[in-house]
Amino acid sequence: MPELPEVEVTRLSFADRIAGARIESAALGKPLRWPLGVEPASLQGLTVQRVRRRGKYLLLDLDGGLLLIHLGMSGSLAFAPELPPAGPHDHFELATSRGRLRLHDPRRFGAVVWAGSEADPVARKLLGHLGVEPLGDEFDPFVFWQALRARRAAIKPVLLAGDIVVGVGNIYASEALFAAGIHPGLSAARLDQSRAGRLHGAVRSVLARALEQGGSTLRDFSSAEGKTGHFQLEAMVYDRAGQPCRVCGTTIQSLRQGQRSTFFCPQCQTS
Ligand SMILES: [Zn+2]
Repeated sequence: MPELPEVEVTRLSFADRIAGARIESAALGKPLRWPLGVEPASLQGLTVQRVRRRGKYLLLDLDGGLLLIHLGMSGSLAFAPELPPAGPHDHFELATSRGRLRLHDPRRFGAVVWAGSEADPVARKLLGHLGVEPLGDEFDPFVFWQALRARRAAIKPVLLAGDIVVGVGNIYASEALFAAGIHPGLSAARLDQSRAGRLHGAVRSVLARALEQGGSTLRDFSSAEGKTGHFQLEAMVYDRAGQPCRVCGTTIQSLRQGQRSTFFCPQCQTS
């Protein structure tokens, strides 16, 4: 599943190149998670002003509206002057004066949704509940701690929920909790200010590192055949159940929280 760093690297791979492009046509494939909400032909003639990101949504600002793109479980975007003929898993395409933007999504949990503005009900429904951006200034350690104090649920699913801070997906939540030395089952409300501060720093550094590694593979993402996937993050705990902790040698354990697997070191993550 593309997580925040992959989505941001995807954005960086084409945002500058598509800015100013005029839409010549739009085409849909099979239904995605949500409908486009407008006739594709009505996008013709609009200009792509810029590409922003909010959480895991890419926002294509057009003159007079925006497209919200989500990559779902298996989506990837390609943008190139020319692309090979669309295949059975290509479900949205914009032909523009600067190239073709195509969504490839075999599992079809992704979506492209039209909104007249961010104030539209459809945009508010998708974006309105999102927490602050983890790499932005608004992600403040004290505010983070205060928000956690109001939650009795375990810290791992609270991070994943995305309404306090966005973009901390399953891999990065496990890794950040390890880096902060915090057990994933600890009630969020029981983190004191210093542990919340450690977790705040760990969330930022884990995501920043993934972004950095993704940035170094940007060329792959911008090619016509570019596919998003997880960066080659050297995981400390994620997907390492049964293997020795890279710090203390204790066997990494896994547990289920919600529907998701969590990985942790019982020795390093005691608080
Ligand atoms: Zn350990």
